[in-house]
Amino acid sequence: MKHHVIDVHNHPNWHGHNLAALVRNMDEHGIEKTWLLGWEQPRHEYDQACPGYYVHMDPRGIGASLDLVVQGLERYPDRFIGGWAPDPRDRYARARLEAAVKIHGIRVYGELKCRMRYDDPDAIAMYRFCGELGLPVLFHLQCDPHTVARQAAKRDNWLEWYGGDLAVVDTICELCPDTRFIGHGPGFWKEISGDADATDAGYPSGPVTPDGRLTQVLRRRANLYCDLSAGSGCNALARDLAHARAFVHEFQDRILFGRDYFDARQFETLDKLELTPETEAKIYRDNALRLVPA
Ligand SMILES: [Zn+2]
Repeated sequence: MKHHVIDVHNHPNWHGHNLAALVRNMDEHGIEKTWLLGWEQPRHEYDQACPGYYVHMDPRGIGASLDLVVQGLERYPDRFIGGWAPDPRDRYARARLEAAVKIHGIRVYGELKCRMRYDDPDAIAMYRFCGELGLPVLFHLQCDPHTVARQAAKRDNWLEWYGGDLAVVDTICELCPDTRFIGHGPGFWKEISGDADATDAGYPSGPVTPDGRLTQVLRRRANLYCDLSAGSGCNALARDLAHARAFVHEFQDRILFGRDYFDARQFETLDKLELTPETEAKIYRDNALRLVPA
């Protein structure tokens, strides 16, 4: 195993992989442990613009249930760290989270992926509670000005969006200084470039304009971390390797290896950056261990 890698982002019964297949896949890629994350949202949000979720997730329910996460923890206690994010709009979300921590050893509040602004008062209350419990908050962000414009363009448009824009992230980091946040998703990573608003592409290509809003918020908010998982995280580095090298160097204590999938593209992209062994160890393992100690 390269660095006793910890993958901070994957899901149970996702894209054709049951738990045993996920563990085999981790073995193939030299991944020692994975943060096994649930996903809870109301059915009418799950249905919105992506019927594809129905073919990629367990059809016995919607999203990724706490039940599946607990199955993973019970079958492979040495391989998984449990994450679950009850919808913060639920009246008893904090009580349910506390029960999940006490009973099932949940260590992460994630993945938060709901059709709501993440600076909603109920969400703020949840993050502060997570801070008290010592749980990092991992969220999916996907809502740029182009999405807002397209949503407004036609009466019956109903686009998929999550969280709000990067200003929301700045706000929650400021309002909850004792909580550590981990950002993920197209709306988070496209902000690596200063010209993020110039394109409506979810996964923009081409050179990065320096000092994007993501860099500015990371400099301002020491409690914000970055999750490299999925096409969004990988693309943000791969689109401009020279910029990626400087970005990873500057924020090497707050960047986390993750996949949200079953392939090797994060490994391949990080290899191209030719990082020092010390920096690689932080990204592949040590930063995750600081957030969720073994
Ligand atoms: Zn995910």
